[in-house]
Amino acid sequence: MLKCEICGKEIENSQYHGNILCSSRCFTINFWREIIAEKDKHIIIHGECYCDGGENAPGAFRGFSGRRFWIRFKDGSTLTTNNLWYQGKIPDEFRDELPDTAEFYTPDHIRFANNLKTPF
Ligand SMILES: [Zn+2]
Repeated sequence: MLKCEICGKEIENSQYHGNILCSSRCFTINFWREIIAEKDKHIIIHGECYCDGGENAPGAFRGFSGRRFWIRFKDGSTLTTNNLWYQGKIPDEFRDELPDTAEFYTPDHIRFANNLKTPF
Protein backbone atom coordinates (compact mmCIF):
# COMPACT_ATOMS: atom_id res chain seq x y z
CA MET A 1 0.00 0.00 0.00
CA LEU A 2 1.08 3.54 -0.74
CA LYS A 3 0.20 6.57 1.32
CA CYS A 4 -0.83 9.87 -0.20
CA GLU A 5 1.84 12.47 0.66
CA ILE A 6 -0.78 15.14 1.26
CA CYS A 7 -3.72 13.56 3.09
CA GLY A 8 -2.23 10.21 4.19
CA LYS A 9 -4.92 8.15 2.50
CA GLU A 10 -3.83 4.62 1.57
CA ILE A 11 -3.93 3.91 -2.15
CA GLU A 12 -3.07 0.98 -4.43
CA ASN A 13 -1.02 3.06 -6.81
CA SER A 14 -0.36 6.66 -7.63
CA GLN A 15 -1.21 7.92 -11.08
CA TYR A 16 1.04 10.95 -10.59
CA HIS A 17 4.63 11.06 -11.66
CA GLY A 18 7.22 11.68 -8.97
CA ASN A 19 4.81 11.93 -6.04
CA ILE A 20 2.39 9.61 -4.29
CA LEU A 21 -0.95 11.37 -4.47
CA CYS A 22 -4.47 10.02 -4.19
CA SER A 23 -6.49 12.51 -6.18
CA SER A 24 -6.46 15.57 -8.38
CA ARG A 25 -7.34 17.56 -5.27
CA CYS A 26 -4.17 16.37 -3.49
CA PHE A 27 -2.22 16.89 -6.71
CA THR A 28 -3.34 20.52 -6.76
CA ILE A 29 -2.37 21.05 -3.10
CA ASN A 30 1.02 19.44 -3.72
CA PHE A 31 1.57 21.54 -6.86
CA TRP A 32 0.98 24.83 -5.03
CA ARG A 33 2.93 23.80 -1.94
CA GLU A 34 5.95 23.14 -4.16
CA ILE A 35 5.57 26.59 -5.69
CA ILE A 36 5.27 28.19 -2.23
CA ALA A 37 8.46 26.36 -1.19
CA GLU A 38 10.37 28.06 -3.99
CA LYS A 39 8.27 31.15 -4.46
CA ASP A 40 11.18 33.47 -5.26
CA LYS A 41 11.49 31.57 -8.56
CA HIS A 42 7.92 32.45 -9.51
CA ILE A 43 6.24 35.59 -10.71
CA ILE A 44 2.73 36.36 -9.54
CA ILE A 45 0.58 38.79 -11.47
CA HIS A 46 -3.13 39.35 -10.71
CA GLY A 47 -3.35 36.05 -8.83
CA GLU A 48 -1.82 34.02 -11.64
CA CYS A 49 1.51 32.30 -11.44
CA TYR A 50 4.28 32.44 -14.04
CA CYS A 51 7.87 31.28 -14.25
CA ASP A 52 10.66 32.72 -16.36
CA GLY A 53 12.32 29.90 -18.29
CA GLY A 54 15.23 32.18 -19.18
CA GLU A 55 15.79 34.39 -22.18
CA ASN A 56 16.88 32.29 -25.18
CA ALA A 57 17.17 29.14 -23.10
CA PRO A 58 18.29 26.12 -25.13
CA GLY A 59 15.56 23.82 -26.37
CA ALA A 60 12.82 24.03 -28.93
CA PHE A 61 9.95 24.98 -26.67
CA ARG A 62 9.35 28.43 -25.28
CA GLY A 63 6.59 29.62 -23.02
CA PHE A 64 3.75 31.36 -24.90
CA SER A 65 5.49 30.35 -28.18
CA GLY A 66 8.29 32.82 -27.53
CA ARG A 67 6.09 35.88 -27.14
CA ARG A 68 7.91 38.71 -25.39
CA PHE A 69 6.74 39.98 -22.04
CA TRP A 70 7.85 42.91 -19.91
CA ILE A 71 7.40 42.55 -16.17
CA ARG A 72 7.83 45.12 -13.42
CA PHE A 73 8.31 43.83 -9.89
CA LYS A 74 6.96 45.51 -6.77
CA ASP A 75 10.50 46.59 -5.83
CA GLY A 76 10.75 48.50 -9.12
CA SER A 77 13.07 46.09 -10.91
CA THR A 78 12.07 44.93 -14.37
CA LEU A 79 12.44 41.80 -16.44
CA THR A 80 11.90 41.04 -20.07
CA THR A 81 11.71 37.50 -21.35
CA ASN A 82 10.70 35.55 -24.42
CA ASN A 83 10.30 32.37 -22.42
CA LEU A 84 7.54 32.92 -19.87
CA TRP A 85 5.62 29.89 -18.63
CA TYR A 86 2.10 30.00 -17.26
CA GLN A 87 1.47 27.84 -14.22
CA GLY A 88 -2.11 28.64 -13.52
CA LYS A 89 -4.48 30.68 -11.42
CA ILE A 90 -3.65 30.47 -7.74
CA PRO A 91 -6.51 28.90 -5.73
CA ASP A 92 -7.98 31.21 -3.08
CA GLU A 93 -6.63 29.06 -0.24
CA PHE A 94 -3.03 29.77 -1.34
CA ARG A 95 -3.41 33.45 -2.16
CA ASP A 96 -2.25 34.59 1.29
CA GLU A 97 1.03 32.76 0.78
CA LEU A 98 1.40 33.79 -2.85
CA PRO A 99 0.57 37.49 -3.10
CA ASP A 100 1.16 39.44 -6.33
CA THR A 101 4.84 40.21 -6.88
CA ALA A 102 4.75 42.01 -10.20
CA GLU A 103 2.73 43.41 -13.09
CA PHE A 104 2.99 43.37 -16.86
CA TYR A 105 3.87 46.62 -18.58
CA THR A 106 4.61 47.87 -22.07
CA PRO A 107 7.85 49.84 -22.49
CA ASP A 108 7.51 53.31 -24.00
CA HIS A 109 9.36 52.45 -27.20
CA ILE A 110 7.02 49.52 -27.88
CA ARG A 111 3.96 51.64 -27.18
CA PHE A 112 5.33 54.26 -29.58
CA ALA A 113 5.90 51.63 -32.29
CA ASN A 114 2.39 50.24 -31.80
CA ASN A 115 0.92 53.73 -32.20
CA LEU A 116 2.73 54.14 -35.52
CA LYS A 117 0.99 51.01 -36.83
CA THR A 118 -2.44 52.49 -36.18
CA PRO A 119 -3.30 54.66 -39.21
CA PHE A 120 -6.05 56.73 -37.53
ZN1 LIG B 1 -4.59 12.55 -0.79
